[in-house]
Amino acid sequence: MKGRKSGVRRVAAFAAAAMVATSLMSACSKQKELDLSVRSSDLYVEKNEAVGDNFVMGVDISSYIAELQSGVVYYDFEGNALDEDGFYDLLYECGVTHVRIRVWNDPYDSEGRSYGGGNNDVDTACRIAKSASEAGLKLIIDFHYSDFWADPSKQMVPKAWEGMTLDEKGDALYDFTLQSLEAINKAGGDIDIVQIGNETTNGFCGESKWENMAKLFSQGSKAVRDFDEDVRVAMHFANPERENAYSYYADQLDLYGVNYDIFASSYYPYWHGTLENLTEVLGCVADTYGKQVMVVESSWVYRLDDGDGSANTISDETVGVDMPYVANEQGQADMISDVISAVTDVGDLGIGFCYWEPAWIPVQVAYDEDGTLINSVKEENRVIWNRCGSGWASVFAGEYDPDDAGQYYGGSAVDNQALFDYEGHPLESLRTFLYVRTGTDAPEPTATPTPMPDPGFVASEGDVITNGSFESGLDGWDVDGFNTEDAASNSRTGSGSMHFYSATAGATMTATQTVQLEAGTYDFSAWLEGGDAGTSDVFKVTVEVDGQIYEGTGNVTGWQQWSEITISPIEVTGDTQAIVTVSVSGTTAGVWGAFDDITMVKR
Ligand code: CA
Repeated sequence: MKGRKSGVRRVAAFAAAAMVATSLMSACSKQKELDLSVRSSDLYVEKNEAVGDNFVMGVDISSYIAELQSGVVYYDFEGNALDEDGFYDLLYECGVTHVRIRVWNDPYDSEGRSYGGGNNDVDTACRIAKSASEAGLKLIIDFHYSDFWADPSKQMVPKAWEGMTLDEKGDALYDFTLQSLEAINKAGGDIDIVQIGNETTNGFCGESKWENMAKLFSQGSKAVRDFDEDVRVAMHFANPERENAYSYYADQLDLYGVNYDIFASSYYPYWHGTLENLTEVLGCVADTYGKQVMVVESSWVYRLDDGDGSANTISDETVGVDMPYVANEQGQADMISDVISAVTDVGDLGIGFCYWEPAWIPVQVAYDEDGTLINSVKEENRVIWNRCGSGWASVFAGEYDPDDAGQYYGGSAVDNQALFDYEGHPLESLRTFLYVRTGTDAPEPTATPTPMPDPGFVASEGDVITNGSFESGLDGWDVDGFNTEDAASNSRTGSGSMHFYSATAGATMTATQTVQLEAGTYDFSAWLEGGDAGTSDVFKVTVEVDGQIYEGTGNVTGWQQWSEITISPIEVTGDTQAIVTVSVSGTTAGVWGAFDDITMVKR
């Protein structure tokens, strides 16, 4: 996920005596048997008997150091400010077993200024690794093999590897992996799992052909094996909701002989389908290939307002689907325990869960005289984000990633999905990791989720198209060749769009819908984005009504470069039906894109 690091000055080493005391303490705490008696809490969490002793309960706190450098203070449940060691001890006491850390190769511009997003180079990983491991926490190292965010929408090659042949890149990837792991280990990190890539759904390290991706995956895996054969290798994908996607990825990994242990998934409840589907697709990989499976990214909101003046992924005005959980601490606890159950439902090969960025809170917040949160601090925060790298992207990221970070740099998009409040106090929901092992004594809540308003796109009064915004998958459309893309980053509005991709030349893809019309004048509109088209590709919409065909065509100019195709007026003399067709034909091999927000409105 995009959530989106500066020169981190290492704190002077502790006095030798203090080091000895700390390591003795953590050795004792590690040996302590977990008390599994039912806990007293206001949160209802059912004990999950299937969670074994070795189940991974992770949190990704990659932005933590940049947050500290921005002046953020975290507290314990009694209101005491925590130093770095205290912070990791708190996580441990709350049932967390693993800390996940993303690693970028070189997240700095030509002037040495940080791209932001937590300044997550190898030095930052070493600092987190040392303190976390002293507290008894193990590590999940998440190599992006990029200089900045890698996710389903982009897998940019590191600057230093640009122009390399595939073999050269493989060698560089092997060396970087091995050297980074050795550095983290030397710093004191207790490495358990290493991810070869982050959300490598649509590509990896500048490659999009499976044969090439697999070659690079194998070099990363080999480096981990050469580092320590007991460390587990994980592959990480997103979009479990895409039909047959995971079985396809697992099949490709098998076909090309990639040596790995864990098939890992992201699971964000508003994008990634149902929990039943998650269990099924992960279970299929576990059963077919004998791989361990886990969720390495997941999160949910406990409030809908924004804390830092940088828009949030989920807010009271963005998401267009029904809320699967209540936006409060109980909703977070429900989500965490449900996703853990979806993993344990796979069986013994369901080995873990990791929450994404629970400590990425506002660098500072402000309130008006009534105590209402205000976002007037955005400009002050922007200065801090750029200076300390604590926002998802700094202004300096534009040099590497002009299309995304270069335009939308800012703060935290997930401050309202944290497990700490806006002032740094832990939420009771942080203890869910412990509670799923013990259960709580609270009564089961009866509150139900409230539907959220549509995201920016609201179908007009009189629109005759059903599900033109594809928020309900492809419901209402008769489809040949198109599929859905349940990722907000690929949608014009909301979280759905109708995606297309053709691996072959000369293909045709169509989606049709029959609509009911009455006498009057109609205006038709559809939005289109995409890329890698040639001169032969035709992107067309037609409306056939009473023997007459109205037609509009468009073109694609890039990812998230939306253009509108309009047809108007369409004159209708009486009650009748019309056939609406959206098509891509004469394809160039590799053409991709999406349609979204299709409307036909009576004036
Ligand atoms: Ca925010």
